[in-house]
Amino acid sequence: MRWTQYFIVTSKETPKDATAASHRLMLRTGMVRQLAAGIYSYLPLGYRSLRKVEEIVREEMQRAGAIELMMPILHPIDLWEETNRVAAMGDVLLRLGGPEGDWRASMVLGPTHEEVITEIARAYLKSYKQLPINLYQIQLKFRGEARPKSGVLRTREFLMKDAYSFHDSVESLDEGYQKMYDAYCRIFSRCGLPYAPVEAESGPIGGDASHEFMVLTDAGEDVVALTENKDYAANTERAVCAPLAQDNAEMKAIEEVHTPNQRTIDEVTAFLKTSPSQMIKTLVYTGTPPSTGKKTDAPAEPAIFVALVRGDHDANENKLNRAAGKAWAAASGGDGASISLELADEGTIKRLTGADVGFAGPHTLGKSGVPYFLIVDQAVSVMRNAATGANKTDYHAVNVNPVRDFAINGERAIVADIRNVVDGDLSPKGSGSPIRLRKAIEVGHVFKLGTKYSDAMGATYLDKNGKAKTLIMGCYGIGLNRIMASAIESNHDENGIMWPMSIAPFQVLVVALDPRDDEVMQTAANIHDALETAGVDTLLDDRDERAGFKFKDADLIGIPVRITVGRKALADGVVEVKLRTSEDIEKIAPDAAIERAKSLAYAGLVTA
Ligand code: ATP
Ligand code: MG
Repeated sequence: MRWTQYFIVTSKETPKDATAASHRLMLRTGMVRQLAAGIYSYLPLGYRSLRKVEEIVREEMQRAGAIELMMPILHPIDLWEETNRVAAMGDVLLRLGGPEGDWRASMVLGPTHEEVITEIARAYLKSYKQLPINLYQIQLKFRGEARPKSGVLRTREFLMKDAYSFHDSVESLDEGYQKMYDAYCRIFSRCGLPYAPVEAESGPIGGDASHEFMVLTDAGEDVVALTENKDYAANTERAVCAPLAQDNAEMKAIEEVHTPNQRTIDEVTAFLKTSPSQMIKTLVYTGTPPSTGKKTDAPAEPAIFVALVRGDHDANENKLNRAAGKAWAAASGGDGASISLELADEGTIKRLTGADVGFAGPHTLGKSGVPYFLIVDQAVSVMRNAATGANKTDYHAVNVNPVRDFAINGERAIVADIRNVVDGDLSPKGSGSPIRLRKAIEVGHVFKLGTKYSDAMGATYLDKNGKAKTLIMGCYGIGLNRIMASAIESNHDENGIMWPMSIAPFQVLVVALDPRDDEVMQTAANIHDALETAGVDTLLDDRDERAGFKFKDADLIGIPVRITVGRKALADGVVEVKLRTSEDIEKIAPDAAIERAKSLAYAGLVTA
């Protein structure tokens, strides 16, 4: 391809709002153009890379035995009602809209395809003989993301490879899951991404039922916990750590301290001259337990849940909801399913504590007679002489001690892990290796769904004995645009992109330094043609521009191999071969340069 006949629009300007390197570089190299917030066109250079990512993904899916199909973007909303996901998805689920009764009013744009694939499975997967099977597509997804961000890393329209597997046993699901996990590892290595698989939040299924594939970079919105000795890796949404040891300081007498208008942890610690790690935060929530308690016939009324975490720790929403389910089950014999909690309103807090908001504490709670469940974080359960609210407006208490001053285990109190891990916490594997927190981009997600969708939609098959059984499912997603942007996040320098060979828009760039010189142009064109014939994607910079200008563009668009043809070198019978990732220049004959470029391209040189 000749530059002058192609469509490349590089720019020197760095867009002000583009903080992520991939965002900046994709705009500067003219790979993408924003049409609206979170909506991008892929210009020819960008589209070439995206297609290469797509081919790698397709090859690895095929190799893992998955079968390609394509499902529609428009879905009838009824299908989403079947699985109760219209409410669960909220604003993410985009509706076509239209007057009532109009067909458009009942259509949504697919943000993912569990419902559609399960509808297909329900219709066609009727016998155990058809299982296991894995069906996948590469298709546009639409999501009403509230905050599209960082260029193509988070958009409202993106390309996803989504695969869905169907099984007749948990063992078969485990096998299918492992196959996808391995395929994902191959995909990300081939794309030149420094990735880490981490345990991910998987809701009620629990265990190792879900992994996310993370690219570690500051441009990421996720935070992962990795131990120094690599024995544990998890998204902080679910990461756990070794329990903290009991503080054995001598217990002092509890005292009330007048703390007028000191409400926040910062205010109170400054006022009391203590540290956040010596404080107990008392968080008040409400949640509606299921009405199926066995011991009592409790109605589905909101109950109060009080959570205690250390002043320097943050409560983890998922852990907290699960603990609330357990606390409720312990008291009322429910099934322990997690309860979705919300922060209590001011009125509830005042009723419970008898004080203004900001002065709640565990030791005198309950005096008001308002019932509540207490969930004590493990880190709080081992504290000694802590400071906390005194349930009295403008007062705090110091030297509060768990067990002595408030029960941590009992009919309405449990100890649980309900906090986010922090840097320096120790590995939950018992190795004593410290946890480090890193920002990361999620590029892929594999998930053991179990029967969540097949149950909801009644997707059954007949087993060996002719008995109807529910299909067991797995689902596996990869964001193609995100792979491309993450590759740039991981492979660039101050001058531009450094494409991994596998997904570079072109593999070799031939720069003709003096295109008006016949011999130069002829040699450059010969190299270009020979490489193209050999199946190497080659771009020939035949623009009549200064050398410095062309080299700057070459560094910016980041083609892995550059062959420079100039009058002076050619007089010595050589051209210059340079890799984007190295400063070394090799001066060799044009034929040798062709061979060199071919072998680099065929080797699929990966720079990460
Ligand atoms: P996130 O937590 O980042 O919002 P998600 O958990 O909603 O992602 P999944 O539903 O698991 O994402 O989708 C599978 C893959 O699709 C993700 O791993 C990611 O690579 C990609 N993806 C998801 N949302 C977006 C988006 N808004 N823009 C670009 N890619 C996305
Ligand atoms: Mg995910």
